Amino acid sequence: MTELRRERFSVMTERGEVTAVLKGTFYHGAETRVDFPCVGDFVLLKYNESGNSLIVTVLPRHSKFSRADYSGHATGYTKTVLEQLVATNFDYVFILSSLNRDFNVTRIMRYLTQARQSGGQPVVILTKADLVEDYTLPLSEVTQSIPDVPVHAISSHTALGLSELDSYFMPGKTVVFLGMSGVGKSSLLNALMEQNVMQVQAIREGDSRGRHTTTHRQLFMLPSGTMVIDTPGMRELGLFDANEGIRASFADVEEWFPQCRFTDCRHQTEPGCAVLSAIADGSFSRERWEHYLTQQHENKYVQDKTSYLIDKRARDKTLAMQSKNTKKNGGWKI
Ligand code: GDP
Ligand code: ZN
Repeated sequence: MTELRRERFSVMTERGEVTAVLKGTFYHGAETRVDFPCVGDFVLLKYNESGNSLIVTVLPRHSKFSRADYSGHATGYTKTVLEQLVATNFDYVFILSSLNRDFNVTRIMRYLTQARQSGGQPVVILTKADLVEDYTLPLSEVTQSIPDVPVHAISSHTALGLSELDSYFMPGKTVVFLGMSGVGKSSLLNALMEQNVMQVQAIREGDSRGRHTTTHRQLFMLPSGTMVIDTPGMRELGLFDANEGIRASFADVEEWFPQCRFTDCRHQTEPGCAVLSAIADGSFSRERWEHYLTQQHENKYVQDKTSYLIDKRARDKTLAMQSKNTKKNGGWKI
């Protein structure tokens, strides 16, 4: 309790950045930390000229990323799985994946599943196009796998393809970056900011203080008036109740299931399995089925791994903010 009381939030308002604390009632009966402010939230603020301002309310969110927190510290229960928010109120989810050696369509599909359940609109960004001889091949491979999602190949070093992204960078829009460490999130952000707001990986690795102790902002305002969320939490995002997202991404796969003879068919060796016979007669792609199985498997793996990470890491409590009065919500974005 005392520890929570020490939480300070930065909120950007028309008076500039102010430090705020949560109103006391946040702690009474707050069973879940989902009530707590998160990067991207809009809040109602009681401004205090001479000290900490007061966060009175967190306004409803239209999109969110969360991860499973198995630690149970917030409530005192030991085995409760909590939903821990990582970012909120974004419009676009940029799924970054590099075109060079790490190129992996399955991983893009996995991130797509997360993006789809977040409430944001997914956009796939294939990075480091300058490192491959011909990016059109991987580009069309991804486009064919996910025909309903925009895909762009870019290079933050040569600025190739960056202008294709202009249509997303409208004032007041918020973008969140999703992708493995090293895919070029900081580099893209730097290129978009046209100034170095973050150190890229190579420099960070030489920094003995390490990534997690280096204070850095988590929400950036681009010259266009678009905000970009890039938080440490996003970098180790796990899947929280991904089933809904998997269903959306693999509706074509799951529509075979009701046709299986047995309702509890595992689609492995069962007689009368609609999936197996559709694969056998060519009416359903084996590759697609394998994508689905990989996804299911990775979902389980990521959840296990996330619980491990969360127990080991203290939550980064710094929230960085934006500088716009959000009149339409009547609140301030934090
Ligand atoms: P992050 O961990 O996702 O933020 O990745 P970084 O932005 O730190 O980039 C990781 C490494 O990839 C760094 O060595 C960057 O210089 C390199 N990198 C990022 N974008 C590009 C690019 O467009 N082209 C090339 N050649 N290298 C890049
Ligand atoms: Zn079956």
